[in-house]
Amino acid sequence: MSIDQGQSFGPGATIGILGGGQLGRMAALAAARLGYRTHIFCPEANSPASQVVAATTVAAYDDQAALRAFAEAVDLVSFEFENIPDSTAEFLAALRPTRPAPRVLHIAQERLREKDFLTSIEVPTTRYMEVARAEGLERAVREIGRPSVLKSARFGYDGKGQVRIDADTDLSEAWTRMGADLGILEGFVDFTHEISVIVARGVDGTSTVYETVENKHRNHILDVTIAPARLPQPVTMKAEAISRHIAEALDLVGLLAVEMFVTGNGEVLVNELAPRPHNSGHWTIDGCVTSQFEQFIRAICGLPLGSTERHSDAVMKNLIGEEADGWREILAEPGAKLHLYGKAEARPGRKMGHVTRLSPKS
Ligand code: AMP
Repeated sequence: MSIDQGQSFGPGATIGILGGGQLGRMAALAAARLGYRTHIFCPEANSPASQVVAATTVAAYDDQAALRAFAEAVDLVSFEFENIPDSTAEFLAALRPTRPAPRVLHIAQERLREKDFLTSIEVPTTRYMEVARAEGLERAVREIGRPSVLKSARFGYDGKGQVRIDADTDLSEAWTRMGADLGILEGFVDFTHEISVIVARGVDGTSTVYETVENKHRNHILDVTIAPARLPQPVTMKAEAISRHIAEALDLVGLLAVEMFVTGNGEVLVNELAPRPHNSGHWTIDGCVTSQFEQFIRAICGLPLGSTERHSDAVMKNLIGEEADGWREILAEPGAKLHLYGKAEARPGRKMGHVTRLSPKS
C-alpha cells in the first residue's frame, strides 16, 4: 500500500536514498545544490555517497527496524540501485512517498518480467525465452537459434551472469557458467550501435528526455558515452519516443534509462531498463543545462523539470580500476572535467570515476 498523494517537497526536505554508490553520491550533490538534505541507507560503511551526505544508515536491506527509523527520518524515499527486495520497497512505500513506485522496481529488476512488460506495451525487444532448467536450455536454443545470449534473469549488470551461445558452445557448461537457477535466452543482436535515452517524468505526468547517446562497452562494462549519438535523426527520434512511451506506461515518477540496440536497417530494440540515474547520463553534468542528477531530484520532489538542452558535445569516459591514477594528466587537459567517487581501493573492473571531455556543440 502506498501513501503517495503526489505531493511536492521543497528545498529543506530530507531525501532518503537506498544505495550508497556513485549514483547516490552525485544525486546527493545535486540535491545539496538545491537546498535539500540527503540520507543514505546502504549495507556498506564509508560508501561513496555517505561521504557527501547529511546522514547515513548502515544496515541490511531487510532490516525492518532500521528501515522504519530511516523512513521516519526522511520526507520521501528513492533508490540509486534497483536490486533491493520487493518487500523493502513495499515496506517503505507504506510509510513515505516512494518514487519510483515499488512496481517499477519490481518490473526492472528481473529481465523476463521486464521483457514481458515491454512486449505487453508493444515495444520491440530481441527475441527471448525463459529458461528454468539446464534441460530447458536445449529447447530454447532450438527455438531462438545460435548465436544467442544466456543471461541470469536477476541481479544482472555489467555482463555478469552472461554466456554467449555460439555454434560450438556446450549447453550444460553454458548453464553452469551462467550460475543462476532462472535464466533468459535472447537472440543475439547484430547491432551497429548501442544507444541509451534518459527520460524523466514528474508527479504531474510531464516528461523530458535527454538526447540519444551512443555507448561503447569494454569487458561488458560501459567504457565511453558519446553525446550526441552519431545516428540519423529518425533513429534517435524513434529511441526517444520509445523511452517516453515506456515511462508513461510505467507511470514513472523519477528517472528511467533505456538501453537499446540499433540494427543495420535502423531498427531499435530495447535491451534493458534502469529506473534511476545511469552511467550513460553522466555527461549531462557538464554538457547540459540540467544534469540527470538534478532532474532526478526535481522529478521525485515534484518540482518543475529542468531544461535538458545540450550546450556542448561531450564524450564521457569511465575511469575503471587503475585508469583513475591518471587524474593529474586529466586535470591538465583543457575541456576535460574530472569526477572521482572517493573509492579507496582501485580493484579491477571497479568504476573509480569518470572524465567528460567537452567540445563546441555540433
Ligand atoms: P546487459 O547486461 O544486458 O546490458 O548486456 C551487457 C552487454 O552485452 C550489452 O551492452 C551488449 O554489448 C551485450 N549484449 C547483451 N545482450 C545482447 C544481445 N541479445 N545481443 C547482442 N549483444 C548483447
